[in-house]
Amino acid sequence: MTDRRAQLAENLARVEERIAAACDAAGRARQDVTLIVVTKTYPASDVRILHELGVRHVAENRDQDAAPKAAECADLPLTWHFVGQLQTNKVRSVVSYADIVQSVDRIRLVTALSAAAAREGRELGCLVQVALDAESGERGERGGVGPDGIEELAAAVESAPGLRLDGLMTVAPLAGPYAGRQRAAFDRLMEFSSRLRGNHPAANMVSAGMSSDLEDAVAAGATHVRVGTAVLGVRPRLG
Ligand SMILES: *Cc1c(COP(=O)(O)O)cnc(C)c1O
Repeated sequence: MTDRRAQLAENLARVEERIAAACDAAGRARQDVTLIVVTKTYPASDVRILHELGVRHVAENRDQDAAPKAAECADLPLTWHFVGQLQTNKVRSVVSYADIVQSVDRIRLVTALSAAAAREGRELGCLVQVALDAESGERGERGGVGPDGIEELAAAVESAPGLRLDGLMTVAPLAGPYAGRQRAAFDRLMEFSSRLRGNHPAANMVSAGMSSDLEDAVAAGATHVRVGTAVLGVRPRLG
């Protein structure tokens, strides 16, 4: 076993233990929470090792970094999630490899994603990214739509050709009333998810929680956690 492989295996085992313990504590089945490993800034060789270690979901946040990596790993049966703020001029590229875009936060993006998915003749999963710190009608610092914009976007995704509405995503806010209150933030997201499922029963995916707060997300009811640092190590540069 190479050093890198041993290191990733150990980190992955530790994250797996944390998820299992959080599921236990919440009375949830382990299989109800999916681990997505955020591989941003790390090379395709790491993605390949992670696949060998049993990872099936990976996430990226920048198209420049993700596109060549996904191409190098095209032979692997992985689900690719795009979790970064997405400019419409990058949509065609992202749709060529992403299975799910978790950062849908404006109508213009829905339109562009739909056109690109239709062009590729495929169905793209979409999560509406919720900014718990955004004022009414605004987008958050780290992307996302304010809570009062969720239903409009969800309806737009659902009626857009080539797109499938899968659920909601959030990043715990650094500012505003939820700063430092991850559990409260994720509970709030779950309320929005319940409301969403009232109108869109199939949109039951809830993506929340990262390396530092995955336990809070599992406790709140997240179906997907997005873990980077705890598996791959501290990122070599901002990403
Ligand atoms: C980088 C990133 C993560 C992973 O964060 P870690 O703290 O490294 O686990 C999760 N979600 C999004 C949207 C990210 O950009």
